Amino acid sequence: MFNSIELSLGWPLTVVSYVSFEELFDLIHQAHTKTEHGGRTIMENQLQGYSPVPREALQIYLSLCESCELKRARVKKGLVVKPILSFEMNSRCQIDLIDMQAQEFEGFRFVMVYQVIF
Ligand SMILES: [Zn+2]
Repeated sequence: MFNSIELSLGWPLTVVSYVSFEELFDLIHQAHTKTEHGGRTIMENQLQGYSPVPREALQIYLSLCESCELKRARVKKGLVVKPILSFEMNSRCQIDLIDMQAQEFEGFRFVMVYQVIF
């Protein structure tokens, strides 16, 4: 499929295919789709018959793949906070203290914010 040059290196005979720089993207893309959006190591295994494809090129390709980006975004958890449900009025609340020590007023140095959670 690719216009590759095959070179045999040493003995026992090992044939390594080289692709041109212009075809490097297509080669990486093919390996990535064949492995169903495999990671860097999986792609390196897929490309074993070829001359070593620079890891940096694989990293750049992976960082630009939209499907992989979406897959990574889905893994994140804990962004949505579950609401705390209560069955009675005033059974739960949230209390915050605002530090007003710099502006003390008649001995009062804090403001308490009492928030009822329904
Ligand atoms: Zn991908």
